[in-house]
Amino acid sequence: MRAWPTLALLLLVVLVAIGCVLWFMREAMRNERVAVREKLVDAYRGQLLLVQAKTKEGWKNRLAALDSSGSAAARFARFVREGLADSVICIDEQGRAVYPRLPSTVDTPGRNANAYTELMTLESLTDHSDPRFQAIAAQLRDMVNSYDQDALPSAQRRFIMHELRRLDPDVVLPTLAAEELVARYLETATSVVREPNLRPTEVRDTWSVGSPSGHVLALFTTAGLQTRLGNVVREFPLPKGVTITVVAPNEDAMTDSTVVTASLAPELPGWRLALSLDDRKLFDTAAEQRVTRYLIVAGIVIGLMSVMVVFIARGVGRQVRLARLKNDLVATVSHELKTPLTAMRAIVDTLLEAKQFDEKKTREYLELLGAENARLSRLIENFLTFSRLERNKYAFEFTRVRPQRIVEEAVAALGERAHVPGCTVESQVADNVPLIRGDVDALVTALLNLLDNAWKYTGDQKRIVLRTEARNGSVYFSVADNGIGLSARDRQRIFDSFYQADQRLARTVGGCGLGLSIVRSIVEAHHAKVRVESEPGHGSTFTIEIPAVVEAAS
Ligand code: ADP
Repeated sequence: MRAWPTLALLLLVVLVAIGCVLWFMREAMRNERVAVREKLVDAYRGQLLLVQAKTKEGWKNRLAALDSSGSAAARFARFVREGLADSVICIDEQGRAVYPRLPSTVDTPGRNANAYTELMTLESLTDHSDPRFQAIAAQLRDMVNSYDQDALPSAQRRFIMHELRRLDPDVVLPTLAAEELVARYLETATSVVREPNLRPTEVRDTWSVGSPSGHVLALFTTAGLQTRLGNVVREFPLPKGVTITVVAPNEDAMTDSTVVTASLAPELPGWRLALSLDDRKLFDTAAEQRVTRYLIVAGIVIGLMSVMVVFIARGVGRQVRLARLKNDLVATVSHELKTPLTAMRAIVDTLLEAKQFDEKKTREYLELLGAENARLSRLIENFLTFSRLERNKYAFEFTRVRPQRIVEEAVAALGERAHVPGCTVESQVADNVPLIRGDVDALVTALLNLLDNAWKYTGDQKRIVLRTEARNGSVYFSVADNGIGLSARDRQRIFDSFYQADQRLARTVGGCGLGLSIVRSIVEAHHAKVRVESEPGHGSTFTIEIPAVVEAAS
């Protein structure tokens, strides 16, 4: 059974689920922002409508104020000075521009020759500090600034104003900008259109609107109109942090901080009022509080899902590992049991076939039978121990124990094999080795497995030394042999279940790759360590280091 397709599927499911959660979150957050904006819109719309009505009313009053009596030029000057408009054209009953006039009718009536003479005199005076210069300049200035009865035609007035400004840049000419604006308008206009609603003109950034009676055409620059409308808006008391701005048709009314807008049509088509919050954060705070809650919930859900995945993955991994172990175990057990059973069967058959029992031979066969039986028992013992350890079913009984006792029992369990010809098994126990805390049977099994391996993986001349000593608060059991040794790669893997460095050799000497994995499990249960030092062809030394109990062994 392979784990990765299941894990990949699990990962996919989780990623999709996390993706969905994040998508829901994004949608929820967006909706939350929209909802907050809606609430703010509701809260501020009423206020904006009031301002809208007031602005329109102010606008109407402004236009109505243009319908007052007086000479055309005087009205021009008054309207401009009072700031009613950036410039105006006064129109007579027949609909003709009276002041300023259209270019075709501009120069004849009222032209003042005297003004030109004075201007020429002024230009001839090079010394500007000359009192004569000052006097003529003041006279001319008063003339162009005056709009009473015998007013100058606007073209002449503008010409003189420009000349004066050239000779004296500081000269005060309050209507010059208005004269210029209207001149620009009249240059492009074929006829004067007096619409009651604001409309754009041919001149860039300039707007025109007729007074209610149609006797005045007011001109506004975009900036001028924005300032005038803005002044009306500002008169209205607003809560702190709230601003209403006048937005021209070519501007974008909806900025990030805009809450709601209101149109100024039909009087001012395309113009809008925009209510915005000065502090964008203020706008977001309400939404963010809820969004934070969503984020926390999403975080918890994703966290829980991740934890769940880890648990499931571990469970699946464990199941897969167990299934693999089971398969390996079944295969190994059947194979390993078969060898001694076949040998025993052959011995029994030979004995049965004999016509009469030769005592010496029979004893030899029975000894062989006994050895195979012991090998079988060891195998089964190892299987059982392994199985219990794997299922965490091994009941360790921890007691204080003398290391000598473990050594003696392990060597005794090695039995007859320790005495075969060419084999020496030497046990060296240092003096005063302290007590250790452990499960006697388990530790004997661990040590016996090491001795067993040392016996199996050495040639005919076996020299096995079991040393027991104490150092730095620990007791060390080391099993050294003069056997075949291990490569670096094998040293890394021999503690894995079912791992055998040389399977063919393992088959002849017996074993199923569980001995060292049992040693490792037992050692871990004792909070101890096991390590191996070995080189191929130079024997191996396995050492178990186990913490000593503080008092000395008796
Ligand atoms: P097995 O039942 O095969 O002996 P173990 O888990 O006890 O299983 O050992 C795993 C493998 O480690 C063995 O198959 C063998 O290749 C190697 N091994 C263990 N002990 C020694 C040793 N003392 N010298 C050389 N190789 C060893």
